[in-house]
Amino acid sequence: MDRKQKKLKVKAVSELLSSIYGSIPWKPRYNAAEELVYTILSQHTSDINSERAFHNLLAVFSDLNHIADADVDDIEVAIRRGGLSKTKAPRIKSVLNEIRKSLGSFDLSFLAEMPLKEAKTWLIKLKGVGPKTAAIILCFSFGMPAMPVDTHIYRVAQRLSLVGKKISAEKAHDVLESLVEPEEVFQFHMYLIKHGRDTCKAQRPKCNHCSLTELCPSFKRYQ
Ligand code: SF4
Repeated sequence: MDRKQKKLKVKAVSELLSSIYGSIPWKPRYNAAEELVYTILSQHTSDINSERAFHNLLAVFSDLNHIADADVDDIEVAIRRGGLSKTKAPRIKSVLNEIRKSLGSFDLSFLAEMPLKEAKTWLIKLKGVGPKTAAIILCFSFGMPAMPVDTHIYRVAQRLSLVGKKISAEKAHDVLESLVEPEEVFQFHMYLIKHGRDTCKAQRPKCNHCSLTELCPSFKRYQ
């Protein structure tokens, strides 16, 4: 499948999934620095637990400055319900201090004024920030056309042959992003996550109940 065919497939997938999930308009979630903290908390954790940990963290420390100044042990206690707290606490403290040292604040709004590639590059220079975290911040906080590729999106995109088998999850960000119209990126991201969670599951995809069968070269494999 060439690039043009892949773009047409993306459009067709989007239309079919929009008939199931409807319109999902973008709206800002957290400010960018908070989104970064939230994203660290969400690694290898359910949405419910990461949200609980995030809200508890803010309830305990009230703002990012206090989190950056806090003892790692106290951060760890505050986020414990989110899991992997011993790993995540030093990561959160470290990246917040790195930002504050660099900017004198946690205001990352200048990223929204940058071309997408430059904004990604700035974020990825932060220790522990990879393409997925950078894309989440730019997409969710600023509505920029960055495509975060999580495990669901990577799996579904590969099954649909939008992303080749040899393309790593990290590289899949740029590949997939280039196939989606900029104004559709957020919605397409949400559609593929929902489809991956509801239907195109990792172990037993529900191919017989999938609306994408005619577009999916993996359909027969999982029937
Ligand atoms: S047909 Fe099966 S493998 Fe293909 S997208 Fe649907 S659920 Fe996934």
